[in-house]
Amino acid sequence: MNDRTSVATTLLLARGLVKRLASGERELTVLDGVDLEIQTGETVAILGPSGSGKSTLLGLLAGLDRPSAGDVVIDGVSLAGLDEDGLALLRRRLVGFVFQSFQLLANLTARENVLLPLELTGVRDAERRTDELLGAVGLSERAHHYPAQLSGGEQQRVALARAFAPRPRLLFADEPTGNLDGATGERVLDLMSELQRQHGTALVVVTHDLEVAGRADRRIHLRDGRVVSIELGRSPLHASESRAIVPKGATSESATSESTL
Ligand code: ADP
Ligand code: MG
Repeated sequence: MNDRTSVATTLLLARGLVKRLASGERELTVLDGVDLEIQTGETVAILGPSGSGKSTLLGLLAGLDRPSAGDVVIDGVSLAGLDEDGLALLRRRLVGFVFQSFQLLANLTARENVLLPLELTGVRDAERRTDELLGAVGLSERAHHYPAQLSGGEQQRVALARAFAPRPRLLFADEPTGNLDGATGERVLDLMSELQRQHGTALVVVTHDLEVAGRADRRIHLRDGRVVSIELGRSPLHASESRAIVPKGATSESATSESTL
């Protein structure tokens, strides 16, 4: 635990997260005691080999799934203390999610995909918000197209508009450019950063892309369900705390080989 824990801007705090899953006769420990914090407005990249537990961790942090042990506290609220309705309400109020596979509703237009969740939660300026966000991602002209009529990059931009429209304070993205070509992925990331800056949203992004990771304020490396190193620092603003932290049990090599900045 570092000295950032106590500052008032901590938006999410995860302690001792364990996730066990049944795997045939055996039990598989997918996450094995993960601690982390997310500060208001920061960008955190989660990196690690396939199967290291990145998606599982994101699901727990976003309150989409429950840990076997440990807890997540978002904006001072312990998720362990919430029932399913309470969880759903908190997610709706504070959390957005962007999936690798876009997950748009096929029988709704781009505009309806963004508008529907806003209307369901009773957002007052839902129509205006929707058109604003579709404009921000450059899809005003495509508003009435169905997902099947849009390219992968366009679908992911609709998904971004949908995720940002309710003004979440925390946005999770699980390999948001994993299904896009390089240039399209780049455009989607630029948009995500831009929206994040405008909205002051904290962004937690799982990625294999070192370019994406390089933009983050912190890079958290997972291996076999454990945090093996955390790199701090992106901009000169963060230079004074640019260092690698090696949690107990991790090899020093994993920290020094992935130097900061
Ligand atoms: P990553 O996103 O880093 O690739 P995941 O979090 O998706 O990793 O998965 C971590 C491990 O948990 C993998 O070994 C995966 O096979 C296993 N796993 C994930 N979901 C399930 C599930 N529902 N049932 C059984 N095993 C699972
Ligand atoms: Mg994954």
